[in-house]
Amino acid sequence: DLKIENLTKSYNGKTVLKSVNLEVKSSTCLGIMGESGSGKSTLGRLVVGLEKPDGGQIYFDGKTVKDRTRLERRQLRKKVQVVFQNAYGAVNPNFTMRMVMEEPFKFMDQKLDKKDRDDKIKKTLDQVGLGHLNLDENARRLSGGQVQRLCIARALIQEPEILLLDEALSGLDYLVQKQLLQLLVHIKERHNLSYLFIVHDFLLAYGLCDQVIIMDQGEIVDRLDIQEGHEIKKPTHPMSVKLLGD
Ligand code: ATP
Ligand code: MG
Repeated sequence: DLKIENLTKSYNGKTVLKSVNLEVKSSTCLGIMGESGSGKSTLGRLVVGLEKPDGGQIYFDGKTVKDRTRLERRQLRKKVQVVFQNAYGAVNPNFTMRMVMEEPFKFMDQKLDKKDRDDKIKKTLDQVGLGHLNLDENARRLSGGQVQRLCIARALIQEPEILLLDEALSGLDYLVQKQLLQLLVHIKERHNLSYLFIVHDFLLAYGLCDQVIIMDQGEIVDRLDIQEGHEIKKPTHPMSVKLLGD
């Protein structure tokens, strides 16, 4: 479980997050919506540990980072993975698919021999629908949707508990978005995974999330539960209405 209390962040005296509180139970998806500049990615970066908050606490399974030993901190880093919008940019241009998938093994405690490692890579690529491709092909030769699948596979192979998706489906055509959304739904059910899903398109949010928070100028201004059947109660907050329609 992830729990955030009174999280604050500013850059050069400008407040970007003001006292953010939220909770994400395991195996659920929290959607994060808001206008450009509302602080979504900043919140994501703090959760992943790419940046430090100015104030407040982030608890994973009831413990903050400070409460942990060095080994536990290392393990925590694997548990929280991230997939960004620009998948091409997140992949070394000289890497084959195999090299991309082997990268995370450098940081794993458990040392696997080559055969077990290859099996694990193959199994993970199967899960994201890339199992049929030649692993020695340059990763840049993949289509936009495929390279995004590869980035999801690179995250999954580390067996995370939380996956941050920062506009991971943006910029892809509609059909590819729908296929990737299906994949994410499937992965969430199979693995014991929670998502933080930063998203602009509310139809995508409805398809994956259990709850959506609406951010405005660094604050959570609304929380909307998504029911079975991907339905949502009529939003009333002006920012929610603006983003989701009424
Ligand atoms: P978008 O939808 O455009 O991705 P966002 O909601 O993700 O927007 P953030 O990227 O979190 O917004 O940015 C929130 C605010 O913080 C913006 O005003 C941005 O300019 C500012 N900001 C973010 N990162 C930095 C930084 N490293 N240094 C200075 N200001 C920053
Ligand atoms: Mg952003």
